[in-house]
Amino acid sequence: MPAPAPRIADGFIADGFWGAVGNTPLIRLRRASAETGCEILGKAEFMNPGGSVKDRAALGILQGAVERGLLTPGRPGTVVEGTAGNTGIGLALAAQARGWKSVIVVPETQSREKLDFLRMIGADLRLVPAKPFSDPGNYVHVSRRLAEELGAVWANQFDNTDNALAHERSTGPEIWEQTGGAVDAFTCACGTGGTLAGTARALKARNPDVRIVLADPEGSALAPWVNTGTVKASPGGSVTEGIGQAARVPGNLNGAPVDAAETIPDAEALAQVFSLLAEEGLCVGGSAGLNVAAAIRVARALGPGHTVVTILCDGGARYQSKLFNPAFLRERNLPVPAWLA
Ligand code: PMP
Repeated sequence: MPAPAPRIADGFIADGFWGAVGNTPLIRLRRASAETGCEILGKAEFMNPGGSVKDRAALGILQGAVERGLLTPGRPGTVVEGTAGNTGIGLALAAQARGWKSVIVVPETQSREKLDFLRMIGADLRLVPAKPFSDPGNYVHVSRRLAEELGAVWANQFDNTDNALAHERSTGPEIWEQTGGAVDAFTCACGTGGTLAGTARALKARNPDVRIVLADPEGSALAPWVNTGTVKASPGGSVTEGIGQAARVPGNLNGAPVDAAETIPDAEALAQVFSLLAEEGLCVGGSAGLNVAAAIRVARALGPGHTVVTILCDGGARYQSKLFNPAFLRERNLPVPAWLA
């Protein structure tokens, strides 16, 4: 008689997309850890079903909309959002799983891979020219007006605090449990600030001494805001996508318990992207590289023996045509790794 099939405990089976978001592994980054004498740990958010940390925000926002009676599972509904791509992917897939439509507004400067993916999964993709937030044509304002016109739900990830709340209820407690509370610092880049604010609040509630460091690309206004208390318009220009702000502090970030900020140049962030691939077998996007670069800086400042946690926001395949494209890198005077050259 064949042996009975092993029985999987009910708690291990995720219920569709909504049940499969979160509970991502925390990965020891061996080279960064050896180099600093610290434990540098990356939360593998690229393993979420939509491929990025933004699945958590998307889910939290849609759960909030259901709780408020704005959307009902199985009944027609539409969610509209302006996004660098990843939130749109999370929203589109989560909406699909509940029978809703998604209309996703993205600046045309975002990577071709993210745009193709949104089309592929059936989102109603609206490309708009990249415009500053002060311009009514900015993707965020376009998405708000579109939601009004369609009578649809506007996700509003920048100011809808269900975004940060999702991280306060999931990302932060997961990190605390996975490290057994032995976490000295957390570094994280901000687009909306939801990941940083929510995770920081959860960690500080459990230990107020956990050091929270905002990681910011060069040309963003957020690190200068943390360091000086004022928001000064900044030029932007980083090759990373989905992070940094040119001239404002999103509602989800405002009031977050941030202790310090690091500004990371693209070359330093990309060096980590390529090192994670070559030495750890982890293929991640630019914001993950930037987060790891900031974690290494923070670990060096704290000294050996500390544990620094950061976020591996999404996977590198989303940026094949840019960050892993020698022509793109050379045009910007960024180093090309040997195996791509
Ligand atoms: N990394 C990537 C790749 C992203 O798409 C985003 C969100 N746009 C972030 C980081 C920033 O996350 P948050 O919005 O929670 O600040």
